[in-house]
Amino acid sequence: MATPYEDLMHGALSAVKVLVQNTLGRERTVEAAVGLATRTIEITELMMSELARLHPPERPIACARACDACCRLTKVATDVPSVVRIVMHAQKTFSETELLDLRDRILPGGKESDAPGCTWLANRACTVYTARPVVCRVFNAFDAAECNAGNFIDPNGDEAARKLAEPHRVVIGAAIQDGLRQGLEGLGIDGRQVYLRPASLRLLSQADAFERWVKGERVFEDITAGVGAGRLH
Ligand code: SF4
Ligand code: SF4
Repeated sequence: MATPYEDLMHGALSAVKVLVQNTLGRERTVEAAVGLATRTIEITELMMSELARLHPPERPIACARACDACCRLTKVATDVPSVVRIVMHAQKTFSETELLDLRDRILPGGKESDAPGCTWLANRACTVYTARPVVCRVFNAFDAAECNAGNFIDPNGDEAARKLAEPHRVVIGAAIQDGLRQGLEGLGIDGRQVYLRPASLRLLSQADAFERWVKGERVFEDITAGVGAGRLH
């Protein structure tokens, strides 16, 4: 018999698959992709609350808005609808100066970079905090000093690694991402995760990137990070 935790994980995966059908399955537009990403986040937040009730963390989670080691030291990978949502959010809400700053971060020295560190981090704060993707909401640690030392959680790692953070959050995040991938692939759309920095650049600089992706073209093939939620470092 499945445990309540396993039920939660399977429920999250199924809910997101249905959500893909109800959004991009109905119309293949930017608005539908943004709606999908937004509602996926709502499901994620609900699942995280339920998980905290069912499976309280062994220690308090140290994550806070002003804490940025994970944003500075890792190469963040996420799903394409989340990147679309972040880019649209920036285009709607950033000032001219903020857009110029973004260009400098996304193309440091006028060149594309594959260095770790998130494009959306500025002055040690997330500039798209309300639109941040699933991975940024489930990734966690009990001690920010461990993160600053580069010791991040690997939910599939050894016992010692898993004592640095609450692994169930990351596993449920991976189930949510898997539901998204399966749902997108059911529509013939490439559902694999992409690196956030170059995918943001591509969507900002290639006017037809979204349209081609949503029609099933492998627009992000060279910047695909594989399947499942994760921060790679
Ligand atoms: S994962 Fe680590 S660096 Fe990132 S917010 Fe949490 S404690 Fe801070
Ligand atoms: S989107 Fe925001 S929270 Fe997520 S890695 Fe980038 S700066 Fe950090």
